[in-house]
Order: sequence, then structure tokens, then C-alpha cells
Amino acid sequence: MDSGGLTELDRRIADCRACPRLVDWREEVARTRRAAFADWTYWGRPVPGFGLPDARLLIIGLAPAAHGGNRTGRMFTGDRSGDVLYRALYDVGLASQPSSVHAGDGLELHGVRVTAPVHCAPPANKPTPAERDTCRPWLVQELHLLRPTVRAALVLGAFGWQAALPAFAGAGWTVPRPRPAFKHGAHVTLPAADGPGLHLFGCYHVSQRNTFTGLLTPDMLREVLRTAAEAAGLSPRNAPRK
Ligand code: SF4
Repeated sequence: MDSGGLTELDRRIADCRACPRLVDWREEVARTRRAAFADWTYWGRPVPGFGLPDARLLIIGLAPAAHGGNRTGRMFTGDRSGDVLYRALYDVGLASQPSSVHAGDGLELHGVRVTAPVHCAPPANKPTPAERDTCRPWLVQELHLLRPTVRAALVLGAFGWQAALPAFAGAGWTVPRPRPAFKHGAHVTLPAADGPGLHLFGCYHVSQRNTFTGLLTPDMLREVLRTAAEAAGLSPRNAPRK
């Protein structure tokens, strides 16, 4: 596995300024900050993927949160969505701790990497189609580098699903036509002409709106994570940790 390649890719992503609206927004949020984080120095840059260079399971979200990843510099770190995701990863044995507070908190993922199709925090959590398309080559490159080991991808939400399908195709997997529709619990196998296929799973996004309303419960999330981890060749825990 070309871990140097992934490290270099992450460094290049963090320097990207290709989307003027998102560059302005991420830097404006970093300057003005939220009162609760007034003593923080915000990251204020694109947030690269987090986790192993030889991951077998890739989790794909939407984009960093303005006061989460855009503050801490790590995917799903420092916000409520991340609290839900990493708690579930910990419960099924795929993370070393149940919380993800800041980039130096010691969190390690087991067999997993977490990324997003858009690496900059967007206003109202809504990237434009043009921003999604501009950022896609980063995901294609990340997928290329992960291809030797990655065997399953879990996509959180319809936006990530739509954004990621062309990236899977760009990285060498075959995406069926018509494109498979997103739904919670969706499972599609993407073959590849020159290597192993990829198990693709859909899951409701871990957004506050979905978790507060009960559309996505901790049990549902753990179940999808376990299924995706097993498809990836990992050995998730069956019982949640206390
Ligand atoms: S969203 Fe992606 S392409 Fe746009 S500036 Fe951020 S890292 Fe670059």
C-alpha cells in the first residue's frame, strides 16, 4: 500500500482553493468562530480523509461541518454527527474510543478510513453541484490509492451517494446503469475488470436531523456498520460496548 501516496494526497487536499465560495466560507467561519469555541484556532482549510492507508472499509459522508471538521481539521470530529458515528464505530470494535474531540485525542480506527466527497465546509451544509464536481477528483485519487485493500464502502446519505458513484467509476469499478438508487440498507456490488469488486452500502446520514428524529437510530447504524465491515473482511463486535 502506498501510504506515502495517501499522505501526500491529504497534504495536497489541505492546500486546495479551487472553490471560491467554499474558500471564503471556511475562512470566514474560522475568523468569526462560534462563541463556545472562541479560544480555538480553527483549521479553516479542506479536511482530508482520516484513518488507515490500508483500510478495508471506507466511510463516505457529505462535507465537514463549519464548527466540526472545519474547526478541528479531522473528519467528523468535534460535532454531534461525529459523536454518533464514532460511538457506533467504537461499539462494533472499529474505533479505539467512543469520542472524537480533537485531532490529537488519540482516536484510532481499525480497518477503516473516513472521508467525504466535498472536503470544505459548505454554507448550510449544502455544496453546489459545481462544487461537488470540482472536488470529485480528490475522491477518485483517494479511491485509486485505497484500491489494493478497500473492499467495502459505506455512504452516508443521498448526497454522498450521488457524489460518490461517479468517483467509484473513475477509480475503476463498474457502476450499473441505471445507477443504483440510494436508500438506507442498500447493498450493491461494483465489479472491477482488473481487481476485486467493491461492496457498496447506503446508510442515512448521521446528521442531527436524522438522529434526533429517530430516522437513524444507534441500532440501525451499528447494524449497517457490522454488515459493511463483514463484507470488507473485518471482524466487527456483535454486542455494543457499555
Ligand atoms: S471543496 Fe474540494 S475542490 Fe473545492 S476548495 Fe475544497 S478541497 Fe478544493
